[in-house]
Amino acid sequence: MTQNERHDISRRQFLRQFGFGSALMALSPLHALAQEQAADTNVAFTPATESNNMTYRLQNGSGEAISLLGFGMMRLPREQEEVNRLVDYAIAHGINYFDTAPMYGRGTNEAATGQALSRYPRDKYFVATKMSNQSPNLWSLEKSKEMYENSFRQLQVDYIDYYLLHSIGGGGVDTLRGRFLDNGVLDFLLKEREARRIRHLGFSYHGDVAAFDYLLDHNDEYHWDFVQIQMNYLDWRHAGRGRRRSDADAEYLYGRLEKLGIQCVIMEPIRGGGLANVSDEIRSQLQAVRPADSPARWGFRWVGSHSNVLTTLSGMNRMEHLEENVATFSPLQPCTSAEEELLARIADQMAGYPTIGCTTCAYCMPCPYGVDIPGNFAFYNDAVNKGLLPLPQSDAADYIERQRTYTEAYRKAIPELERATACQDCGECLSKCPQHIRIPNQMSRLVELTRKRRR
Ligand code: SF4
Ligand code: SF4
Repeated sequence: MTQNERHDISRRQFLRQFGFGSALMALSPLHALAQEQAADTNVAFTPATESNNMTYRLQNGSGEAISLLGFGMMRLPREQEEVNRLVDYAIAHGINYFDTAPMYGRGTNEAATGQALSRYPRDKYFVATKMSNQSPNLWSLEKSKEMYENSFRQLQVDYIDYYLLHSIGGGGVDTLRGRFLDNGVLDFLLKEREARRIRHLGFSYHGDVAAFDYLLDHNDEYHWDFVQIQMNYLDWRHAGRGRRRSDADAEYLYGRLEKLGIQCVIMEPIRGGGLANVSDEIRSQLQAVRPADSPARWGFRWVGSHSNVLTTLSGMNRMEHLEENVATFSPLQPCTSAEEELLARIADQMAGYPTIGCTTCAYCMPCPYGVDIPGNFAFYNDAVNKGLLPLPQSDAADYIERQRTYTEAYRKAIPELERATACQDCGECLSKCPQHIRIPNQMSRLVELTRKRRR
């Protein structure tokens, strides 16, 4: 039996653990129905929905069964009907965790999420949202409370299942103090948890590990119910890759949380799409083992194989992504140790490539000069993964040909006014990037790549 099989709850285990009359009755009607339907088979526990074989994890403490695939709502289609269609498919196929934030979709995401979810009974879904008071003019208790109360209105709920301090780590412990500690915002949220308007309180982490460590060092005081971290097979041991001193590998973050018994919600399981779009050489290594599986499926399976993961967020704004991901987790087939070794070797191989650690989150947008920042970085990373980059030395025989191929592909992919050449080095994007990418410097690098050299 694999580690994951031991951890995922089977129907038989579920019934043995909770019994028919006691704790189960405290769970939702969905779970009660699942109990009635539960066959005596050793498969992952599955609440009753149509055609649903989703894998679930139990939340420590509450015993809520959370789908191992969670819906990251960050980038939704514009039309509400399309959002509803995606949510309907997700719920019908067993996804019950939906993650949004006040700042997503330029402030429209919570409302769209609320409209889609409020068509369902409240016990059919778990909704996660955040205190996105990153901007210093929102740091006051009054402004933060306004943001908090607005989330209830937008989501059309009277309690929030999973509430997060959003994006802890940017600006280190000083910013953490300014946003949450010195102004009383965290004390307020702890009281809201006591009052049960917040069912589970946690934080999402990007950046300076000192802030992550501070909050966990004070866990006896705060009692975190969960923590959201960036984790994938590349960031496991290659998160920092020299970008900045305080970057921490996911192995460290996950290990620390596991020791404290705090479950993880995972973001960036395929690193903003980077692990879905691997080089042909890496793709063939993966296909040699599982010919029918996409690189994205490998990435998701790797994350889901970790038993302290409560749910794995994927931003699914297209039906085909949703369908593929649902299939991956219905049920999850955990990685074997040989597969884990293969992915570790591949990660080492990738870490030698000079990719930019952009997750295409678009927090840095809009650029006042029109640069498509995530688009430029995604193109660059794709070029690295496809072997167009790095370019050879400029005196190499194939330099001109390779540079021309790269430049033509770049011009085809990015419209002229959105290219790196439009960057004016104004610095407005710098503080917004949770990955702390020195965006204007990277734009200069991109410009340099397409500049003709004298021979
Ligand atoms: S530094 Fe460049 S990319 Fe960033 S906001 Fe300014 S012009 Fe845009
Ligand atoms: S540059 Fe930073 S903020 Fe902008 S899309 Fe990439 S990771 Fe997100």
